[in-house]
Amino acid sequence: MSLPAVAVSQTPEERFREFLASRPKPQRFTDQQRDLVAHIFARHKHFDTDELLADLDRAKKNISRATVYRTLLKLVEAGLLRRIEIGVRTVYDHDYGYPQHEHLVCERCGTMIEFQHPAIDAALRQVAAEHNFRSDGHSLVVRGTCADCNAATSARRRLVM
Ligand SMILES: [Zn+2]
Ligand SMILES: [Zn+2]
Repeated sequence: MSLPAVAVSQTPEERFREFLASRPKPQRFTDQQRDLVAHIFARHKHFDTDELLADLDRAKKNISRATVYRTLLKLVEAGLLRRIEIGVRTVYDHDYGYPQHEHLVCERCGTMIEFQHPAIDAALRQVAAEHNFRSDGHSLVVRGTCADCNAATSARRRLVM
């Protein structure tokens, strides 16, 4: 389940190449990095580093762990990915070509439900304005339990009673 994409003028690869070239010390866009960016942006998904590494392993992609770590940091810096902290876990989410959104996170099964709500945007705009603060974006995380986990819990309860 994902939100409708936002139209962008460049592909994530082009955008990242440009970012690397425009750094104070320009860097080369390596084949491993291109593979990694293509893999990450092939479909919308939230992932942590371990999941990504396992995924790359399954896909038989030969990208070193160090390259994965370094590239993730650069992708965040380039505005292509966004980091979301959920307790001790850090999850990456598409930022480029994807609308700003919030998350409901199930603490039992890890499901992340994306949503947008105009009233939240309006409230945050107002708060920022009151503080003369220029917002670059937001990503609310609401922790709790999802419908499936709630249903499982009440089914168990019915069984016990
Ligand atoms: Zn759940
Ligand atoms: Zn998301």
